[in-house]
Amino acid sequence: MRSPILDYLDEIIEKTAEVTGGAPADYIPELAAADPDRVAIAMCTVSGTVYAVGDAEDLFTIQSMSKPFAYGLAIEQRGLDEVLEHVGVEPSGDAFNELSLDPENGRPLNPMINAGAITTHSLMCTTDPVDRLLTLIGAMVERPVEVDEKVAASEQSEASRNLGLAYLLDAQGVLASPPQDAVSGYIRQCSTSVTVRDLALMAATLANGGVQPNTGERVLGRRTTRQVLSVMASCGMYDAAGDWFTAVGIPAKSGVAGGIIGVLPGQVGLAVFSPRLDAHGNSARGVKMMELLSEDMDLHLMDPGRPARTAVRARHTRRIGEEDATVLVLEGDLELSTIEMIVDGLVSDPPSTRQVVFDLSRVDEVRDVARRTSSNMTTKLLDEGYEVVVVDPDEVLSGFKDSRGREVTWWTPEQLADASS
Ligand code: GLN
Repeated sequence: MRSPILDYLDEIIEKTAEVTGGAPADYIPELAAADPDRVAIAMCTVSGTVYAVGDAEDLFTIQSMSKPFAYGLAIEQRGLDEVLEHVGVEPSGDAFNELSLDPENGRPLNPMINAGAITTHSLMCTTDPVDRLLTLIGAMVERPVEVDEKVAASEQSEASRNLGLAYLLDAQGVLASPPQDAVSGYIRQCSTSVTVRDLALMAATLANGGVQPNTGERVLGRRTTRQVLSVMASCGMYDAAGDWFTAVGIPAKSGVAGGIIGVLPGQVGLAVFSPRLDAHGNSARGVKMMELLSEDMDLHLMDPGRPARTAVRARHTRRIGEEDATVLVLEGDLELSTIEMIVDGLVSDPPSTRQVVFDLSRVDEVRDVARRTSSNMTTKLLDEGYEVVVVDPDEVLSGFKDSRGREVTWWTPEQLADASS
């Protein structure tokens, strides 16, 4: 049976067929020669399932969609502080090929515009930076990827503008390699050949906090990934970033070959492809397809979605051994909103028994804020003479102590069942 999700993606291709405005990039001769009618969409969830329709196996060059990944690699290589000394994180509001520099310190404003990306490329790695990036992309797409040498040579033959930027950047002292090397490497980076399917897997890896969903390999650190996505959200669509974020509402990056990737953290990676570009250098039909996908699938990050429900599935008093105990059965993810509900329940309605049992058998994840708040709450409970018992078969709270380093009592689910039978 064909998935209804594939049928839905086909519909998006049909519905946007009338968007024929714009033109393929012509400043790179090889891109101008590409068939402008090709179109494809792919989507990959954080569980690793890829849905792809249209010309989904067609190869095209990644172009500026390589920039977030190069930025991630530079951060992993040099550390965020050092990268920030060379490239800022402010939207420029100018076109992607402008020399947009911070007037105070001469750094390019952000790593998504060419000036910032050429600088980032020079920071990526001292030896074989393109190979390092190809290896990173290969790990995300589960196949070896290569540079399209024809497109690279074509862009190299018309590289005056990027070379001009690089020489000016060098004069500012922000480049970490000679300007010609930075530009030729950057052009090869942009000429990496990918399909929408590949791009959806790359976007899903970012959505999954830097872990490739199928192999489980961590390819970028969690903090690095957050930094990359933040810069994509504010600068990824160049001088259309505001329009994009209000209409589509997810971190994204476009490329002049006609691709766009979008990332909804924790949920899904999207990729679309259509070579005709609008005045900002973003795929015209691609933007329309992303708008529809976001609207139909409720992807906008600023939609609050469903308010957090309680994390307390049940609270009851049970006879355990010789005495009554208060048992709280918790579920879902413990984060700020849910831990607050648990704590509020304990504060406003203090347990009337000496023993308080927290059953975490149905809890998937405990975020740092929830762990800290639980430690502080446990300190108060212990100080008031309660015994705190934790049931945690999946070890989501392993190593837990109260805020003064005091131990709690650990039970297995069997011990809880036996004790209360
Ligand atoms: N390689 C292209 C350039 O430097 C990338 C630009 C883009 O995709 N926006 O002009």
